[in-house]
Amino acid sequence: MKVLPLPEGNYTVDKSKKAIPYQPGIDSMKDRPGSVYVSVQPFLVIKENYKILLDTGFGKSTDNELAIVSNLKKNGIKREEITHVFLSHLHKDHCGGIFMEIEKSYKLSFPNAIHVVNRNEFELALSDRKNYPEPEIFEELQRSGMLEFTEGNGTILPGVDFEMSGGHTPYHQVFYLRDSANTFFFGGDVVPVVNQLLHLFTANYDSDGVTSRELRKKYAQKGAEENWTFLFYHSQTPAIANLGTYNGAYRVKTISNSDNM
Ligand SMILES: [Zn+2]
Repeated sequence: MKVLPLPEGNYTVDKSKKAIPYQPGIDSMKDRPGSVYVSVQPFLVIKENYKILLDTGFGKSTDNELAIVSNLKKNGIKREEITHVFLSHLHKDHCGGIFMEIEKSYKLSFPNAIHVVNRNEFELALSDRKNYPEPEIFEELQRSGMLEFTEGNGTILPGVDFEMSGGHTPYHQVFYLRDSANTFFFGGDVVPVVNQLLHLFTANYDSDGVTSRELRKKYAQKGAEENWTFLFYHSQTPAIANLGTYNGAYRVKTISNSDNM
């Protein structure tokens, strides 16, 4: 199995949840009071004959091409080759790359991929305008016929399991991708950055902050015990890491891209 981060870029998100691109070294947080800084980074997993995306980014384009598509090209992969898109949840920064504009109409960015979404998350995204302001995207995805629903916990492909975690959104899901050597864990927005495994706190952007915090505690313990490789969607350094324990505390071992190729 091979896992590659596909960094889309950095943003600040203001109180109205609007994301504005942020270039470190050029932009300043002082000019954006009350905003939160986030990196956005989907992952590509190549597992046997499957090419899987873990979330799809905001859908930022440069020169008429989606960042995720140009990142795939840099790795020698065409968007048509993607077989699966696994979605942790349907906030815009995780699913905005599902569609791209081609000749003034919106088409699936990954036309041959099965898009895997939790059924209740999908229904919520159609009705909750506050947290999911663009229901048209989801209606379009349903019309495409390339949508597959998950419910609760289960297996999607050999060695690929999903687990309905809740916490960040009521039906947020996480993914485990296993081969004989490794367990890769994609915790979406329940485990967006490594620090949240090391320092437990409740976050006000979670629909259920206490559940999220307790989940992080559980994932950190289990992940350290079983030597999981964590994939962090909102952090570029580290994007991929193991947790070890040393003198009773967790220690982060960053994994570079080349280590798992
Ligand atoms: Zn989210």
